[in-house]
Amino acid sequence: MSAPPNDFVFAPPAVPSLAVEGAAGRFPVRRILCVGRNYAAHRREMGGDDRDPPVFFAKPGDAAVAADAAGSCGVVPYPSATGELHHEIELVVCLGRGGRDVPVERALELVFGYAVGVDLTRRDLQNKLKAKGHPWEAAKGFDASAPLGVVRPAVSGVAPQGRIWLAVNGDARQEARLDDMIWSVAETLAQASRLWALAPGDLVFTGTPEGVGPLVRGDRVTGGVDGVGVIAFTVG
Ligand code: MN
Repeated sequence: MSAPPNDFVFAPPAVPSLAVEGAAGRFPVRRILCVGRNYAAHRREMGGDDRDPPVFFAKPGDAAVAADAAGSCGVVPYPSATGELHHEIELVVCLGRGGRDVPVERALELVFGYAVGVDLTRRDLQNKLKAKGHPWEAAKGFDASAPLGVVRPAVSGVAPQGRIWLAVNGDARQEARLDDMIWSVAETLAQASRLWALAPGDLVFTGTPEGVGPLVRGDRVTGGVDGVGVIAFTVG
């Protein structure tokens, strides 16, 4: 006999969630998929080959650090086991519907909204793992590695355009245009849906432009995406 489905041996973990602009309800986070090498200039700065397509990796849903209604994530802790914590500003797609093998021309139908996210990375560890051909989880999927702003509901069928940027202590570090992405939002979702059955609550980080760099304790990080929102936090 299996136990009733609401009978756990200890309290189940809370569902991570994000504030939604103009809504009382919150966006429940299921899992976090990420695209790497989706901007040509960043792929080059990381030493990648121009012929390589973008790649997917993942973070656990509970790596999310949710912002308040103003886009502030407060203090994000400097993680253990790194001396080279890097910022990567990214457009994040927040799914309200799921699907598998979704065609590009229907992919934006899955989108609930968009948010600004920072893919925090233990770069020194990532470089060591890459050199050995080992998995990236310890470099990418650590606790509090995904600060996220407020979810802005999508205008049906339209992906954000325009500028994406990040500053540290007021100094510009990253700035690009979303149409610099190698895979568009629709192409990214279509590609992801060939590898996973996408579901409501999934977040997809769409990659970062050039200008990634180190953060130290006390740094004030601000960033944004035109038409989507802003994010701010202090490195603890
Ligand atoms: Mn990234």
